[in-house]
Amino acid sequence: MKFTKSHVATLVGLLLFLCPLVAHGWGVDGHLTVCRIAQARLSDAAANAVKDLLPASADDDLGSLCSWADEVKFHYRWSSALHFIDTPDNLCTYQYTRDCKDENGIKDRCVAGAINNYTTQLLSYGNDAPSQYNLTEALLFLAHFMGDIHQPLHVGFTSDKGGNTIDVHWYTRKSVLHHVWDDNIIETAEQRYDNSDVNELIDALQKNITDEWADKVKTWEACSSGKLPCPNVYASESIKAACNWAYKGVSENSVLEDNYFLTRLPVVNLRLAQGGVRLAATLNSIFG
Ligand SMILES: [Zn+2]
Repeated sequence: MKFTKSHVATLVGLLLFLCPLVAHGWGVDGHLTVCRIAQARLSDAAANAVKDLLPASADDDLGSLCSWADEVKFHYRWSSALHFIDTPDNLCTYQYTRDCKDENGIKDRCVAGAINNYTTQLLSYGNDAPSQYNLTEALLFLAHFMGDIHQPLHVGFTSDKGGNTIDVHWYTRKSVLHHVWDDNIIETAEQRYDNSDVNELIDALQKNITDEWADKVKTWEACSSGKLPCPNVYASESIKAACNWAYKGVSENSVLEDNYFLTRLPVVNLRLAQGGVRLAATLNSIFG
């Protein structure tokens, strides 16, 4: 087929239309970090189940497919609402029955509902009858959404789409607030402290989990209901962090640099670690 000017215009239009939608989720390194932290904490039973469910091409590395759910968003249109939660502007609270719905008001279609749903599906693993679900996809969705729900701006305000419509400068570059939290803070941290190597970031967080945060890990893993996971707790923490840290002091065209970076990086590190620890605890509970 020969491309005419109008084809090119259509393509450019389509790309411009699609690009803002891509910005839903920790970036690749954020998701990879959550999955790598989790996989290293699995019980033998959970590690075997994960190995069994992963496609051979993943070579038993859950991290390599942790962003799969972002890649299939356009193929599985129905799944794009499952990466986040929109809460009422400026309330800084989250309630499942009020907020867990998609744009059309269909309930349970949000990241908390998706975590519950894919957990339920995975519980059919190992049953005598073949599962009615695609459990490989259920595992990949669950691993991804446990990351997303810990990104504070994935439980953001409705009118700015979790910071996606707030233009800012990240140092000298143009960005949007949502992307700052998905990618920019992590990238800048990797450049400054980790030789631009995500593996060094993962090592540093793993060291904190066994060291500085060791006392807190038990409380991260537990749910007051006694039943894992508890996405409503994770979502409530995220909107609190979104208000206290992500949105705080930011307005349209704010220039965000060291002041913002140095005070927010600890929040990003904490949320990545919590996401990994809780994904592991959830998989251990499902497959245990
Ligand atoms: Zn996502």
